[in-house]
Amino acid sequence: MVNRMILALDQGTTSSRAILFNDAFEEVASAQKEFPQIYPQDGWVEHDAAVIWSDCRELCRQVLGKASSGDEIAAIGITNQRETTVLWDRATGAPVANAIVWQDRRTAQTCDTLRAEGWLDKVQAKTGLLLDPYFSGTKLAWFLDTVPGARGRAEKGELAFGTIDSWLIWNLTGGASGGASHVTDATNASRTLLFNIETQDWDDEILGRLNIPRSLLPQVLDCAADFGMASEAVLGRAIPICGVAGDQQAATVGQTCFRPGMMKSTYGTGCFALLNTGSEKVTSHNQLLTTIGYRLDGKPTYAVEGSIFMAGATIQWVRDGLKLISDAAESEALASSADERSRAYMVPAFTGLGAPYWDPHARGAILGMTRDTGIAELVRAAIESVSYQTRDLMEAMAADISGGLDASAPLRVDGGMVRNNWFCQNLADILGRPVERPRYTETTALGAAYLAALQVGICGSPEDLSSAWALDRAFEPSLSPDQRDARYGGWKEAVARILTT
Ligand code: ADP
Repeated sequence: MVNRMILALDQGTTSSRAILFNDAFEEVASAQKEFPQIYPQDGWVEHDAAVIWSDCRELCRQVLGKASSGDEIAAIGITNQRETTVLWDRATGAPVANAIVWQDRRTAQTCDTLRAEGWLDKVQAKTGLLLDPYFSGTKLAWFLDTVPGARGRAEKGELAFGTIDSWLIWNLTGGASGGASHVTDATNASRTLLFNIETQDWDDEILGRLNIPRSLLPQVLDCAADFGMASEAVLGRAIPICGVAGDQQAATVGQTCFRPGMMKSTYGTGCFALLNTGSEKVTSHNQLLTTIGYRLDGKPTYAVEGSIFMAGATIQWVRDGLKLISDAAESEALASSADERSRAYMVPAFTGLGAPYWDPHARGAILGMTRDTGIAELVRAAIESVSYQTRDLMEAMAADISGGLDASAPLRVDGGMVRNNWFCQNLADILGRPVERPRYTETTALGAAYLAALQVGICGSPEDLSSAWALDRAFEPSLSPDQRDARYGGWKEAVARILTT
């Protein structure tokens, strides 16, 4: 029997990973590689896009080498760090400069100028986003304005812009040797600040203001679509690329959050929570983002998104900065041993606070310490800070959705931090809703594989995939509403002490 496999390529912020799934979506082989982060000056973060591409090609070749020769690799699915901006020369295939990573703050001034010119409401209405250097548009404008010769070459049609998905697809489909696909999917497009999520097209008014020629931009396709053929010369086999989504949207698909009201939260370095709002494009009044959750058959499903900068990274700081633990996993036993009565709060605003505060100038604090506060209590406060910040996001979502959030709807979780059972229980307690951890937690890669599988007919519809979602463990809230609100009230007071605006 011929096995029909899907190759998922997961290009993240610190590492790239290739996973081969069989047609029952079981992992057959995987390979991963970290790559260098480049910090040219304070607030700047860059990646070498050529290194990302050569690593990805190598990883794909490695996992394909583990398939038997009779296996059919039916399709490739790609998921990627979002917003990171690449500008390259169509003739040589060389990036004109290092990619500007989503975390990079160099275009803060441009965003301030746009805000002063009154663009905020218009940009939010058109793109669902806020005016923040996070998104690709101002990064691309920065390239055109500062890289010598870039604007002239762009106007002659010699250059191409893409987020990492476009860059990888262009290279996989032959790159500078000709005929390569210059495409992206609607979820990645929705993070550029250039894409109108209502009309589903690049927005000429924003392009005009940022002085970006349309000829630079990729064609925008559904998440399950024909993105082009990865060439035999590149991978050793010709394989169609059939599924693409940005990492958080792919995780939403991997968690099969296909119905309005379903939500997932991913706890890696940071935390990203997405709530499916169906065909309704909800405009946030609480500084959350409106984004495309996925687009199938030309139909966008919208989502509201909230992000926290420091989730697992807080535990890393407890490990590497404070040296209270030597391994993140030790945090679980310590937190469970902490004095129940401790009311120490840690606000991990190391680089400011994200949604719903968006205060870039706030800095971290530990409050409420007594002589009884020890290592266990500090570790517990670090973990709890992630639960409290998630509740901040949920409160903002509830305020943005007409009728609020369904109180009993579970939150599906994934990412490295959810291995910690104490954290998952605390999250359920603080949110007052069930927290569900799936058996397979590489949901980002899985989501990309699902999208590709939909396109090639390995599965017929999103509903088929929903039944594949398998629960590892559900955590039920155990605190009374009063206890829960009292603890959360303490957090809100702690945050109020450090906000600068
Ligand atoms: P990313 O994809 O952002 O690199 P991962 O999903 O691999 O992140 O998760 C890694 C993060 O999870 C790290 O920041 C680490 O501190 C945290 N982490 C891993 N295991 C645990 C644990 N048992 N308890 C708490 N945090 C953990």
